[in-house]
Amino acid sequence: MKLPVIGIPCTARPGSEAQTGQLQLSKAYADAVLMARGIPLLLPPTDDPLLRQSALSHCDGLLLPGGGDPDPRFYSEPPHPLLGEVDFAQDRFEMALFALAQIRGLPVLGICRGMQLVNVALGGSLYQDISLAGAAPLLHRQNAPRSATIHKVEISPDSELYRLLGSSAVYTNSMHHQAVRRAGEGLRVVARAPDGIAEAMENADGSLLLVQWHPEALLQAIPPMQRIFTELTRRAAITAQKREAPPL
Ligand code: MN
Repeated sequence: MKLPVIGIPCTARPGSEAQTGQLQLSKAYADAVLMARGIPLLLPPTDDPLLRQSALSHCDGLLLPGGGDPDPRFYSEPPHPLLGEVDFAQDRFEMALFALAQIRGLPVLGICRGMQLVNVALGGSLYQDISLAGAAPLLHRQNAPRSATIHKVEISPDSELYRLLGSSAVYTNSMHHQAVRRAGEGLRVVARAPDGIAEAMENADGSLLLVQWHPEALLQAIPPMQRIFTELTRRAAITAQKREAPPL
């Protein structure tokens, strides 16, 4: 039996005279997929549509990880002074992977930046900084270690996320300074922090699951967080089976 392959884009860091360029991805994402019995396939950025398409044809699911801010030009806003680091080419690459995953019907898990990027790809918008969201926001950029939880998240009982976590409220870590403003097409906010900030979104059939926190850093502290990854590999395994089934 073949285990499902989960594509994960990584980031390219340019080299210097002393060191060659590096591809980067936090090891925790790959570990979480391995623990969920999936094979992480790291996808280095490329502008070539054929290479992107071919790379994604090896994947049964897609995980979009954390990282920098999506470039606000993708939601037709000029950069606010509080905008963080952006990488237009990286955004374009990851959005292209997402579009291909949608065409192929692959399950997608978006984490932190991944949630924001998918929201923007589907026509939604972001607060370029949470301070712009209005009424007294909570601390969403914790100083505590990534494995520590900082704020509560309330989960809609009629959501896939509720079914997965088996709880209507969890404490999560929080390492973001941006947040979803307008929801993208087909996405519903299914979890919020007590200040109203969107903390999770999903689509109608649950094939898109987006979380603003970092479940990959909470697997020890909150074991049910592993189900977010096992659900991705479970759905990916079904996709893989359909693909390999002979045509009727
Ligand atoms: Mn938060």
